[in-house]
Amino acid sequence: MAEQSSGKVSMEKIVSLCQRRGFIFPSSEIYGGLSSCWDYGPLGVELKQNIKQAWWRAVVQERDDMVGLDASILMHPQVWTASGHLKEFADPLVECKSCHLRWRTDEVKGSTCPSCGGELTEPQLFNLMFKTFMGPVESEANVVYLRPETAQGMFVNFENVLNTTRKRLPFGIAQMGKAFRNEITTGNFIFRSREFEQMEIEYFVRPGTDDKWFDYWLEERHKWYINLGIKEGNLRLREHARGELAHYARKCYDIDYLFPMGWSELEGIANRGDFDLQQHASFSGKSLTYLDEETNQHIVPYIIEPSAGVDRSLLAFLCDAYDEEPDKDEIRVVLHFNPALAPVKVAVLPLSKKETLAPLAREVYAELRPCWLVQYDDTQSIGRRYRRQDEIGTPFCVTIDFQSLEDKQVTIRERDSMNQIRVPITELKNTLAAKLKGEPLFVLPPGGQVWKVEREE
Ligand code: ATP
Repeated sequence: MAEQSSGKVSMEKIVSLCQRRGFIFPSSEIYGGLSSCWDYGPLGVELKQNIKQAWWRAVVQERDDMVGLDASILMHPQVWTASGHLKEFADPLVECKSCHLRWRTDEVKGSTCPSCGGELTEPQLFNLMFKTFMGPVESEANVVYLRPETAQGMFVNFENVLNTTRKRLPFGIAQMGKAFRNEITTGNFIFRSREFEQMEIEYFVRPGTDDKWFDYWLEERHKWYINLGIKEGNLRLREHARGELAHYARKCYDIDYLFPMGWSELEGIANRGDFDLQQHASFSGKSLTYLDEETNQHIVPYIIEPSAGVDRSLLAFLCDAYDEEPDKDEIRVVLHFNPALAPVKVAVLPLSKKETLAPLAREVYAELRPCWLVQYDDTQSIGRRYRRQDEIGTPFCVTIDFQSLEDKQVTIRERDSMNQIRVPITELKNTLAAKLKGEPLFVLPPGGQVWKVEREE
């Protein structure tokens, strides 16, 4: 049986939750879907934004040595010659002579087709880049490619960034955005798709200091996942063997996550040496060097590249947060998201739909909405509404009851423990802000009180 990341979650459960609650849908579903392309629904898009925002804050906004970039997806075709993608970014494929299915050679054992047993052709290289044409004429001269990685945008802008920011080594450029690969073997939901998003860093260092910075970034990136709630035991670092290294890499480690289908790559950290700047200098004729202020010599910096996938991170955060608990005769499904990632931060729930509660509940809702994504829900029993919020990972529910009309207090119910405190409405916003940043539930504001610590009805 495949190893499971939390002992409770299978890929089927994650896919079903994502579809049921509006995280992720198959692309163009009403037409039967498009293989290995996915659409992020109302909750999925929030989760994705939160992941990207957490990454951007950590690697750009909170650092002096990093700047951001947003390069275009279509680039000069020479970029892909210089980078080696036109020659090297290919998988060897064999084709079945009877059913015409194509297989990656590493998927085939023996010399017959795994599907029908037919005879296979000799392996041929298949380039994974999507091709299209620039302008109205569909000729070889007008071919451009959808980028298969965001990295090249940062290498070709090295000089622009250097000249405009006056950064000194070591410094880095970060970029996130779409990438496209015509993958042969797709599957495992959003783990490997043909259109996906990357979050990449190119960190430029003095040659000779590259090993130190490689270790630094490996640790930083590993910590980032743990700080956002991934269980340490579900992560591992795996060094690439010599024969496995990409053509540009001197050294590479994968940060693997224990997905439902087993250990698989979440992020790669590579020491790319001076390969990229040398290649682009030679193909463009521009000198992509750095004037070293210490030696007054022009040097070609080495590059350390932490390259993460947005979609794979999202899948890992989902799998890691997923939990099922016995709940009377039912099962309580909870996503224990870190509050920074949770799509909805707070739900406002009037205890009953009665007209008398609505004005105060709406007032509370209006006060919280400018601060976070807040949902208002007055349908069905309070227990069912709590379960609905648990299932999408909302950290806090605020309940307005009949007593609230008299004492102007409301209850805050915590997702993970289901414990409750009661706080004056005047203290609500500040209290929620503190709890969303990690303050324990039972640290009470003035006038607050512990409310219920037993399970709710
Ligand atoms: P794999 O071996 O799993 O195909 P890779 O080594 O080719 O991945 P890189 O080229 O190192 O991947 O890309 C960096 C990151 O981009 C990966 O760690 C992953 O998170 C993400 N990524 C790459 N290909 C895909 C894909 N087809 N679908 C989703 N994410 C991807």
